[in-house]
Amino acid sequence: MNSLWLDINKNYPHFTNINQNTSTDVCIIGAGILGLTCAYYLTKLGYKVIVLERDKVGYKTTGHTTAKITSQHGLFYDYLVNSYSSKFAKDYLEVNEKAIENISNIINENSISCDFELQNNYVYATNDLQLSCVKKEVETVSSLGFNCEFVTKTGLPFDVLGAICFKNQAQFHPLKYIYGLCKFITAHGGQIYENSLVYDIKKENSNYITYISNSKEGLNCHVESPFVIMASHYPFLNIPGFYFTKMYQSNSYVIAVDTKKTLFNGMYITASDPIFSFRTANINGKKLLLFGGEEHKTGQSVPNTNYYLMLENEVKKYYPDSEVLYRWSANDCVSLDKLPYVGPYSNLLPNLYVGTGFKKWGMTSSNVAANIIVDSICKKENKYSYLFTSTRLKPLKNSNEMKNMLQDSVTSIFINKLKKSDLNLDSICNNSGGIIEVNNQKVGIYKDTDGTIYAVKPICTHLGCLLSWNDTDKTWDCPCHGSRYNFKGINIINPAIKNLETYYIE
Ligand SMILES: Cc1cc2nc3c(=O)[nH]c(=O)nc-3n(C[C@H](O)[C@H](O)[C@H](O)COP(=O)(O)OP(=O)(O)OC[C@H]3O[C@@H](n4cnc5c(N)ncnc54)[C@H](O)[C@@H]3O)c2cc1C
Repeated sequence: MNSLWLDINKNYPHFTNINQNTSTDVCIIGAGILGLTCAYYLTKLGYKVIVLERDKVGYKTTGHTTAKITSQHGLFYDYLVNSYSSKFAKDYLEVNEKAIENISNIINENSISCDFELQNNYVYATNDLQLSCVKKEVETVSSLGFNCEFVTKTGLPFDVLGAICFKNQAQFHPLKYIYGLCKFITAHGGQIYENSLVYDIKKENSNYITYISNSKEGLNCHVESPFVIMASHYPFLNIPGFYFTKMYQSNSYVIAVDTKKTLFNGMYITASDPIFSFRTANINGKKLLLFGGEEHKTGQSVPNTNYYLMLENEVKKYYPDSEVLYRWSANDCVSLDKLPYVGPYSNLLPNLYVGTGFKKWGMTSSNVAANIIVDSICKKENKYSYLFTSTRLKPLKNSNEMKNMLQDSVTSIFINKLKKSDLNLDSICNNSGGIIEVNNQKVGIYKDTDGTIYAVKPICTHLGCLLSWNDTDKTWDCPCHGSRYNFKGINIINPAIKNLETYYIE
């Protein structure tokens, strides 16, 4: 599942694990793009920061993104005007445009060499329904005073009926960018620790105590600070934030392809399902196509489906001689009203912040979120913070999404646990997995290519949902909240932080 960004990276900065109790001004949990952007701005303002990362810097969603830096989050502005107001949509657009400029400024000020290049971004239509939505979006965006364009010619290797184009958007190498942030942070007194899993946060008087278990040495220690930022992608604390009731995760798959042909300029995405995303990346002197799509709710992959193969077949329609060089997938958090949650984690825990729900548009959203959180820590007003109020209850109005989420949870916590599995040990093929019954207990089985069996208890350690097998990535995924485990039961994706129980099968 390693992305091309992770694979080609030879200058990875290593950080030690934290191994003693300490204190700081701001403790940041998570070294993805959000945590490190917060750390960058805070360090620049003279705050002492400690960043705690359970894995390695950038190894989770940020290391598996497609890294388009754009304020065009699919066809979104007509939705915002209809669901909120023109002012709301205008502010959303303005703050995401500012984020592109902020990222560009950070890169220039710190001479970060991260393949940043300006590109046009397009949302394109290939059928009449999509075309009418694209035209409506052009009308809406223009009415907000933003200069977008309707085009019928793009650089794509197939005809489109029309597309909405935002100029002066950008793309970059996300890891090179965040390593540039790390360099600044550590050069200015900030501390970054890897292999340092936070398992609890407790309020004591006016400070927070953040508890860490050190995965390398099995030691526990803590950081004391007046401010904590939970930049852990999906918040791993359930109560009192209750984010698990208002957010789900969605998977997408990406392939990096040598097409053996001259490639286009620009970044592209389809106007509606099925979503396909195109951009290019210059890697070792070669221009590769990054092609993404096949998204589904995490934990709800179709059995016996190879999503990478489906992407490859799609690419081969346009580039028959192409060769797939990298394959990877990742998941991002989606709130029920499609807007990120940024600000206090809960009204009951002041000075504990969260930024999540970026809906696969986290390059600009993380910059927006970092500015809102940092301004709040500095007691400075941020005129855009109202767009993303983290404690809002409005998503509950979105009854369809809410119903779907509740249904998924009830099915997986209760109903599916009572259903008998059709599989048995013999019916599971090599390099595949599934759930079987042993002594009336559910057991998750994966057989590797040699037939070696790995057996786990397929119950999510977050809130007890029955896991499902993802045959493309060979992972156990939670259909309720999107936690993921590898076939050995090791937890790799939040909100769960504990591994699965494992069994020995004779
Ligand atoms: C396939 C795909 C393509 C995408 N493409 C785009 C795109 O083109 N443009 C765009 O704008 N956005 C895109 N996105 C979205 C974007 O990549 C994400 O929104 C963004 O990377 C999220 O960053 P983050 O810092 O919140 O999370 P992460 O990068 O996941 O960072 C969170 C970090 O917290 C750590 N952590 C978690 N729990 C703990 C704990 N308990 N203790 C210590 N550390 C912890 C994790 O290990 C992780 O490193 C895409 C997403 C996907 C899935």
